[in-house]
Amino acid sequence: MEEKNWNTTSDTREGDGAPAMGRLVSRRGFFIAGLAAAGAIGALGGFGLVGCSSGSGTESSTRSYDIVIVGTGGAGLSSAISAYDAGVTDICLLEKMNGNGGNTNFSSSGMNASETKFQKAQGITDSNELFAQETYDGGYDTANRELVDYMCDHSAAAIDWLDGLGITLDNLSMTGGMSVKRCHRPTDGSAVGLTLVPGLVAQVEARNISIKIPVRATALLVADDGTVTGVKVEDGDEEYDINAKAVILATGGLGSSKEMIAKYRPDLVDYISTNQPGATGDGYVMAEDIGAELIQMDQIQIHPTVEQTTATLIAEGVRGSGAILVNSEGKRFFDEMSTRDKVSAAELAQTDAFAWEVFDEQVYKANKAVTSYDNKGLVQTGSSTVDLAGKIGVDAVTLQSTIDSYNAITTSGVADAFSRTQGLIAFADGKMYGIKVAPGIHHEMGGIRIDTTNEALRADGTAISGLYAAGEVTGGIHGNNRIGGNAVCDITVFGKNVGEVVAGSLS
Ligand SMILES: Cc1cc2nc3c(=O)[nH]c(=O)nc-3n(C[C@H](O)[C@H](O)[C@H](O)COP(=O)(O)OP(=O)(O)OC[C@H]3O[C@@H](n4cnc5c(N)ncnc54)[C@H](O)[C@@H]3O)c2cc1C
Repeated sequence: MEEKNWNTTSDTREGDGAPAMGRLVSRRGFFIAGLAAAGAIGALGGFGLVGCSSGSGTESSTRSYDIVIVGTGGAGLSSAISAYDAGVTDICLLEKMNGNGGNTNFSSSGMNASETKFQKAQGITDSNELFAQETYDGGYDTANRELVDYMCDHSAAAIDWLDGLGITLDNLSMTGGMSVKRCHRPTDGSAVGLTLVPGLVAQVEARNISIKIPVRATALLVADDGTVTGVKVEDGDEEYDINAKAVILATGGLGSSKEMIAKYRPDLVDYISTNQPGATGDGYVMAEDIGAELIQMDQIQIHPTVEQTTATLIAEGVRGSGAILVNSEGKRFFDEMSTRDKVSAAELAQTDAFAWEVFDEQVYKANKAVTSYDNKGLVQTGSSTVDLAGKIGVDAVTLQSTIDSYNAITTSGVADAFSRTQGLIAFADGKMYGIKVAPGIHHEMGGIRIDTTNEALRADGTAISGLYAAGEVTGGIHGNNRIGGNAVCDITVFGKNVGEVVAGSLS
């Protein structure tokens, strides 16, 4: 498969319902967001905040802080806000790309959380124990139970914390591997990252926390006794050191680095990636270089519904609200709401290793993201099932029979051969839609070994003094299969946590 060149100005890739500007995936995208921040593109509305910087590279003369945070995705931004609110104001965030937000910009389906006020208000019964068990089961018992429990137990508080910051996630849906509605989205059902990143950036700016952008951390500074004392950076043509009492690595994953994929999962090297171009695994390298243990690095998740010509992720919420997957023969072949690893494997076993994601007008309207897929020309539309079958080149009689059988199980209460029990909503007559999908690289589930204080650990379990990590750069929270919506929970819970822990250690 062809690798996308993210640096070309013609790249307008987007996904998960994000408007093209909001995806911020190309240099052009970042630049445009920067203009928006300056008010030059009013139509972008809230996106103006994403690309702006409260303390740009012009601050490079300030080279000593209490806390340096590497990466301005959800984990980095959350940790800056919580450390500040816990009493440490001398903080600097570093971002190597031309815009903030990393992969968090792209997050679409939502943020999982249990026992939340929004679930309770909507009569949804859930528990932290059930959330933890489904997370643990989803990862085939390979996650770190202590981290999973911590995440789930603190998930409702994270939802409240975001709500208090003006980021309200009260629209509930489901993703594969959960038995109750616990995936929290913005009120209008739009992609979560589009609310989360601008909201967090605004809070960082309100606190006057410095963001140096684009400035790339290249190595960790270490004292003779092994304590981390800062980072080495590249700032344009300049290279210098920034000293800090604590460094938080929040550099995200590695999905855009062919080199890292080849190192950890050579079998995936030809897969397309849903990740932003800055997801090149820098944090893993920096941490490992000074003795941190990396765990489960071969656990790179592939996602089953990636449109292959644009690397657009088709949000899991589309299946959660009723879409089905059919093969080129027009037949369903698996429980679409099963976990990503299983759905991907089933898809790869079909003729030509792809599927059509088929849905009706109800699903289209329930997912704002679908409009953006349609605007990009990714959606085939039929006036009826038969018409759609012609458009996507499958046998019309078979497709109609597939829809009829699926509709029957939505009301019969009797599971079909694929045992789908979630997101079972009958297709209505009328317009039908199809998107061609296949698996793509999506998430690094392994990473820096941490404990519930977010300290980076060596292989012998001892903590590396002064070094902390949060977000996708860490390992152990998802095991060998991540449930959709758990990464945003992870980055928010542990981002908030690490800020408080570090502030506590410095006070
Ligand atoms: C298309 C897509 C859709 C997704 N949808 C969902 C979803 O709906 N729900 C969910 O739970 N998860 C979702 N995920 C996963 C989730 O978005 C990510 O795992 C999560 O946002 C990672 O957050 P982070 O803060 O750890 O890293 P990121 O958000 O990736 O931020 C890391 C930042 O660090 C910067 N950086 C890296 N190296 C350096 C360096 N050396 N110096 C300075 N800066 C550096 C990067 O440029 C980046 O800005 C999705 C992922 C993708 C790709």
